[in-house]
Amino acid sequence: MKPADSIQDLQYFGEFGGINPSISDSSTYTFLSAKTMFETFEGNADGCYLYSRHSSPSNLYLGEALAAMEGTETSNVSASGMGAITSVIMQLCSAGDHVVSSRTIYGGTYAFLKNFAPKLNIQTSFVDITSLKAIETAITEDSKILYCEAVSNPLLEVANIAALSKIAKKYKLQLVVDNTFSPLSISPKQLGADIVIHSLTKFINGASDAIGGVVCGSQEFIDNLRNVNDGAAMLFGATMDSLRAASILKNLRTLHIRIKQHSANALYLAQKFESLGLKTVYPGLASHPSHQVFKAQMNAEFGFGGMLTIDVGSLKNANTLMELMQNENLGYLAVSLGFYKTLFSAPGTSTSSEIPEEEQKIIGLSEGLIRFSVGLDNDIERTYRAMFECMQSVGVV
Ligand code: PLP
Repeated sequence: MKPADSIQDLQYFGEFGGINPSISDSSTYTFLSAKTMFETFEGNADGCYLYSRHSSPSNLYLGEALAAMEGTETSNVSASGMGAITSVIMQLCSAGDHVVSSRTIYGGTYAFLKNFAPKLNIQTSFVDITSLKAIETAITEDSKILYCEAVSNPLLEVANIAALSKIAKKYKLQLVVDNTFSPLSISPKQLGADIVIHSLTKFINGASDAIGGVVCGSQEFIDNLRNVNDGAAMLFGATMDSLRAASILKNLRTLHIRIKQHSANALYLAQKFESLGLKTVYPGLASHPSHQVFKAQMNAEFGFGGMLTIDVGSLKNANTLMELMQNENLGYLAVSLGFYKTLFSAPGTSTSSEIPEEEQKIIGLSEGLIRFSVGLDNDIERTYRAMFECMQSVGVV
């Protein structure tokens, strides 16, 4: 499968022959007949639009491009990555159901499963996603979902999606994979995932100017999500705005170029950091415990992605180093990822702070960990030299 080619081969024209599709600037749509309106409500009038919380032409254009990228039948875009994640979990689970989830996942997803879902009597077992035995042990007769991130936030653990898919099929679970950290590099659906989620806020949009999400899956599942009677996307209402859908679609078209550059820059820095003796985690390094798993399932031309971590021993070192690198204009002390400029943060006190300290220790999230979203720097050697000087002055190399 060639995910970037699938995006490129799509054609959408504007209503006057514009080379970009027209932006749908309407929340509601007229019908020539009352009968068609009723049928659209029932979900039986293909090609008709009803109300933009349900769907809109601009959202469908973006959704079709993302479905093409992931190789799924279709998709539904949402107002945020969390809007995508929560609607999938709520659609698949009823009270009394159970989720088996990777224990290293984005803090917001963790907080939802750990603190919010139990209010609805949906329980989650958090497991080491690299241990197939631990996963099988955690599955109960109430389990409905096997949930993971293809490359996890922030520890960069790699899910063996083909192996997880076998387990999911054996126990009739839906394998839900958040692919936010590895768009294009990994194609979870091709490896056996049932549902693929992205926070579009990150690499896919790539401009750090918008929040968005997507659920890619079968036509049947996406129809269920949008159902006016019991669809979680329709009823929770985390709908993307059409203007945003149009702008994200335009940015999606350069994703393949950006990912190659993010990956090349991240690999360069990871190799350099590791050779300095820093504890460096990057799936492209032979020292990464799942390097071979990533290699076996990747679309090689896009590399190992733009995310890496180093451990500088203490939170104090991490904070001093990040402030210094920011002062030297090497990147920004900011959460999120996928920007043209490098972004760095200490996950234990930011994006993963929802995970209790004791739990952080168990999963190996140390306080000196710095997560880098490596930027598109034209001259990464120059960036490295300046980073090295910062590291020397903090005394971590
Ligand atoms: N999934 C991952 C892996 C993330 O890192 C994030 C946000 O940091 C999300 C989902 C949530 O996405 P959003 O912030 O767009 O709601």
